[in-house]
Amino acid sequence: MKVTMLGTGTSEGIPSIGCDCRVCLDAADENSRNRRRRCSVLLKYNGVNVLIDTSPDLYEQARRNRFDLLDAVLFTHHHFDHIGGLNDIRAFNFNRRRQHRNLGIKEEPEPIDCYGPKDTLDAIKQIFYYMFDPRTQKGGGLPSIRLNPVDSEFELFEKKIIPIPALHGKQEVYGYRIDDFAYVTDTNFIPEQSKELLKGLDVLVLDGLRYKEHPTHFNLAQAIEAARELKAKKTYFTHMTHMVDHRDLFLPDGMELAYDGLEFNL
Ligand SMILES: [Zn+2]
Ligand SMILES: [Zn+2]
Ligand SMILES: [Zn+2]
Repeated sequence: MKVTMLGTGTSEGIPSIGCDCRVCLDAADENSRNRRRRCSVLLKYNGVNVLIDTSPDLYEQARRNRFDLLDAVLFTHHHFDHIGGLNDIRAFNFNRRRQHRNLGIKEEPEPIDCYGPKDTLDAIKQIFYYMFDPRTQKGGGLPSIRLNPVDSEFELFEKKIIPIPALHGKQEVYGYRIDDFAYVTDTNFIPEQSKELLKGLDVLVLDGLRYKEHPTHFNLAQAIEAARELKAKKTYFTHMTHMVDHRDLFLPDGMELAYDGLEFNL
């Protein structure tokens, strides 16, 4: 499985609008590791592409990382920085239809399956109500998706996907474990039962917002403590604000900041 970190920034994006702090100035360079798009991850395995979350930067992430087909989406929670790009899924619908035409496949492609906690998918139905409203005129403007609420492990293209419940302030979110990789963003509390599900990891990606404490995210000190406890061979931190500078941060062995475009194979 190949994992690509498509976005590693907090909800406002880095550089933040109107900010000229040291990190935001550096992030004006598109190739800087401080340039952080909103959080999302691409998993490639068994010939399929699975996205975790549809960031508002999905369009740019797909262009930059050159993926044009998509087979499924796993949602962590319904905050806009994790779902805002949902309408852009239609580009992947178009591409799949074109692929079917080119291959002489007569059937219409299936909708793209989206998985997540039930309340997240319910929130998506409200926020993107026009996609699900029978009064909306059907046409090229709507993505073709199918929402599948999940509350326990399930199989997706011959791999076991394990939802990892965690708390993001009062909001329950899902992390996901696939083989010995796990992605747990937007959390400040991982319950004991979920810690059990995160044992023996090769790579863990974990929320590490900033230095100061926050009511709904791990700060870096808490993220380091959690990483020490969970003992993945490698832990990357994500969802960083502009208070975290790639150029001057030294982390314990086996821990690093993720950055947009980072890839690893498992
Ligand atoms: Zn800034
Ligand atoms: Zn969130
Ligand atoms: Zn977020």
